[in-house]
Amino acid sequence: MSSDWKIAFKDKLLAILGPQGVIYKDDELIAYECDALTGHRVKPVFVALPETAEQVSSVVRECYEQNVPYVPRGAGTGLSGGALPTEEGIVISLSRMNKILDIDIPNERVVVEPGVVNVSVTDAVSSSGYYYAPDPSSQIVCTIGGNVAENSGGVHCLKYGVTSNHVLGLEVVLPDGEIIQIGGKTAERPGYDLAGLVVGSEGLLGIVTKVTLRIVRKPETVKTLFATFDRIEDAGASVSGITARGVIPAGMEIMDNLCIRSVEEAIGCGYPVDAGAILLVELDGPEAEVTAQMPIVQSVLKDHNANEIKIARDSNERDLFWKGRKSAFPAMGRISSDYYVQDGVIPRSKLAEVLGKVGELSKKYGLRVANVFHAGDGNLHPLVLYDGNVEDEYHKALELAGDILTVCVDSGGSITGEHGVGHDKKRFLSLMFDESDLDTMNLLRCSFDVKGLCNPGKVFPTPRTCVEPGMKPYKEHPLQKKGLGEMY
Ligand SMILES: Cc1cc2nc3c(=O)[nH]c(=O)nc-3n(C[C@H](O)[C@H](O)[C@H](O)COP(=O)(O)OP(=O)(O)OC[C@H]3O[C@@H](n4cnc5c(N)ncnc54)[C@H](O)[C@@H]3O)c2cc1C
Repeated sequence: MSSDWKIAFKDKLLAILGPQGVIYKDDELIAYECDALTGHRVKPVFVALPETAEQVSSVVRECYEQNVPYVPRGAGTGLSGGALPTEEGIVISLSRMNKILDIDIPNERVVVEPGVVNVSVTDAVSSSGYYYAPDPSSQIVCTIGGNVAENSGGVHCLKYGVTSNHVLGLEVVLPDGEIIQIGGKTAERPGYDLAGLVVGSEGLLGIVTKVTLRIVRKPETVKTLFATFDRIEDAGASVSGITARGVIPAGMEIMDNLCIRSVEEAIGCGYPVDAGAILLVELDGPEAEVTAQMPIVQSVLKDHNANEIKIARDSNERDLFWKGRKSAFPAMGRISSDYYVQDGVIPRSKLAEVLGKVGELSKKYGLRVANVFHAGDGNLHPLVLYDGNVEDEYHKALELAGDILTVCVDSGGSITGEHGVGHDKKRFLSLMFDESDLDTMNLLRCSFDVKGLCNPGKVFPTPRTCVEPGMKPYKEHPLQKKGLGEMY
């Protein structure tokens, strides 16, 4: 893009959004050059800050006409580089679209703009006895738009499901600027499950400008306990033991000794620093059910060599237990100057085995790995600790983290549970999918985004976008050859 061209484009953005809606100064653009995966940085040409779906549509239409790539952005807490800007492209930040549009308690629905912060939904309905279940640890900052794009999970998703289980309707600005409505307040709709397609699509199919969410009634009783173990493998085995006894807790989370120590140092929430691992278990539901399940959980924990078992006495203590878990990532700063968060999934029954292999990899590479994870979902978050000032240690950390993903896939799991593929993990996608799988996914993507301008360079191993050299022409795709429709 020549500088003349940029000047003309800036004028167009200013005409659509006004002076408050466009960031173009170098020192202000720096804030948008990465998400929480800070190892990758690209400064965008401009940042657009629309306030309405119509403004989003006008900006996207302009990009479409001028062939300008763009990246949607929520709060920038993503951990896979999903909101990393594209060279010579703009960022479309949804942070000013932050209104809760409708609270419909009788039908248990809330309609929000994409820039609404996750926890604000619960705050808005709490006094009516409701909450929004998906609760990423970043929930005090991350936005519903980002949650939809990443299909985010959280510590209570074991029992209540992830974002896709709570999104019923969407308004989306397609890559040619058209605004479409998908689903709505009713649970079942005829036709293709387009909401299912857009949720988890990582900002590649369009920009979400409105979301209809399902909220759930607060449970009658909540009981939270933590158990300590000498060996993390025993904590892992307890998780399968609990579900095998027919108990599905609201959440089950594990932290290893490195995590426990850093969290205690950072916020002092009462975790015993000499424990090899902690398992947090939360039971919720009707009082009678929770009362009946608690002894079952305790007996499974004892069978798996638990030492201390501590039940929170009141909601303050319960909040403290969870505060420790939710602070685990930022608390790493206490014990390491840098860390890389990995996100992989394994079958729950393989927890003990895979944790052992992660320990072996840590020894092999000579780098510490702290483990904190959604154990009930088998969703691991190994934190690979390194010192960015030591030559090559970053790359060593990435290699180790990559080997962990291979272990996950080999054990029947996945390369991501909730943080998405984004920029960071596209090189690993072919561990799980062969060429024809990837071509079929890309065919779908290209049917939405013919010019490949919406968050390009993410998710798919390149070259595999609608316009890059080397991409198979659509008509050569196996589905097209079978005569399943002329799309272009
Ligand atoms: C400390 C910490 C803890 C975390 N814990 C969890 C956790 O427990 N569970 C979990 O799932 N994740 C977790 N995350 C990751 C992150 O918070 C989630 O992925 C979150 O959903 C990102 O939301 P965001 O608003 O920050 O989105 P961003 O980072 O801004 O964007 C994420 C992706 O969404 C796209 N996007 C954003 N808004 C829109 C929109 N309106 N339309 C279309 N695409 C859009 C972007 O292009 C990008 O690809 C954690 C992150 C941190 C830093």
